[in-house]
Amino acid sequence: MCIFCKIANKEIPTKVVLEDDDWLAFHDTNPQAPTHVLVIPKRHVAGLREATPEDQALLGKVLLGAQQVAQKLGIGDSGFRTVINSGANAGQTVFHLHVHVLGGRAMGWPPG
Ligand code: 5GP
Repeated sequence: MCIFCKIANKEIPTKVVLEDDDWLAFHDTNPQAPTHVLVIPKRHVAGLREATPEDQALLGKVLLGAQQVAQKLGIGDSGFRTVINSGANAGQTVFHLHVHVLGGRAMGWPPG
């Protein structure tokens, strides 16, 4: 079972921010901003590249979960960044779909 499936199953202690039946949001262990949360579907999807039309509703729920996280943690007004790394070149290291929610500081563009 992959590490994020274990987190979704609560087999690994994790700092949960929010969840519902389909997704879980938790603090990243190696934060890249004052607020850095990951939102994952509880059902295993390896990444955006592997998502199918059957995952359409789930992807929408995960994104709206990211919105709720930003509101709850007070970064909604100042602005926040959502990132989905897809594949090794993009920096994906965990192959269970996750949306990074980063905030609490100004962000540069383009990303590194
Ligand atoms: P990626 O590089 O795949 O886009 O992002 C993976 C993220 O997962 C990284 O930011 C990394 O710090 C985080 N991460 C990896 N393992 C764990 C873990 O066991 N717990 C938590 N909370 N975050 C993790």
